[in-house]
Amino acid sequence: MSISAYLGTTADEYRKKSHSMLLALRLCCPDHADQIMVLHDKYKRKIKDISEEIIIHRLICHKCGKTIAVLPDFLLPYKQFSAGEIEAVLIDSEEMSVYDIETEASVYTIRRWMRSIRLTSTEDGQQANVLSPIIKELGQAL
Ligand SMILES: [Zn+2]
Repeated sequence: MSISAYLGTTADEYRKKSHSMLLALRLCCPDHADQIMVLHDKYKRKIKDISEEIIIHRLICHKCGKTIAVLPDFLLPYKQFSAGEIEAVLIDSEEMSVYDIETEASVYTIRRWMRSIRLTSTEDGQQANVLSPIIKELGQAL
């Protein structure tokens, strides 16, 4: 299980401040509101579009043993690219061929993102916010 939190705007800021910001948040266990989760583990996570790695912190509830990973809000669960990069690619995909989009993502990956968001139209023909399906996906992951 993972949640997103503001832990800095960039990977550099995240590296410098995420640990102290995470401690200051005092996140409670989803099942035990009286239990502050504590740092438990960490793992590396690649961010492909900026070719960097960051350390993702995992918290634990000592009452039930549940653990959660806390992702910086510039990442999406199970995605190797930043939310900003995915949004930019999806916006570009509305106006140009997937072969012309400047990104580190493969054509296969771009097409998978396009399939997964499936732009929806409102009754008056306006396209919905391209991020809404991603936000929905994020909500399901929480
Ligand atoms: Zn708990």
